[in-house]
Amino acid sequence: MTFECKEGCSECCSPIPFEYTLIKNNFHKRNKNHVINEIIQYDDTRYILFTKSFKCIFLDENNKCLIYNDRPKICKEFGVVIRNQCPYLAINGQIRSEAKNKHYLRDWKRQIQRMKDEQEERNNFNLPEMFWLGQLEQIGIKTQIREV
Ligand code: SF4
Ligand code: SF4
Repeated sequence: MTFECKEGCSECCSPIPFEYTLIKNNFHKRNKNHVINEIIQYDDTRYILFTKSFKCIFLDENNKCLIYNDRPKICKEFGVVIRNQCPYLAINGQIRSEAKNKHYLRDWKRQIQRMKDEQEERNNFNLPEMFWLGQLEQIGIKTQIREV
């Protein structure tokens, strides 16, 4: 049995670090319903784009990835490596028992809550998306800010 996501699931598609070039090449494909409310530089080459929905900017309304072929390694690996386990399916693709599902889901929700809390502590919630789009323009990512 191989690992295959639950149909329609997007539980793990939250804000993650993206390479600068990935953002630059794909920004026009983003789901504009996920309003950006903070951007942080994660390391030398990667950025995290937080959204009010706390979903990934490339997740569409039907829970599909808009950059599926270009999605980062972390997305390709999610569920199939020990350090990033899916709450619903084991690495071999088998559905988890109810107890294990609860355990992994609790862990996952805790991680997300921690990221949300950290973001809240940085106090950036009140800046409008336009500000963050401006930040991207400044580092050379075309956002069509004037047409937003
Ligand atoms: S890896 Fe698991 S949580 Fe993530 S989308 Fe697939 S089934 Fe859902
Ligand atoms: S890039 Fe695609 S697979 Fe990865 S978190 Fe975003 S929507 Fe999900």
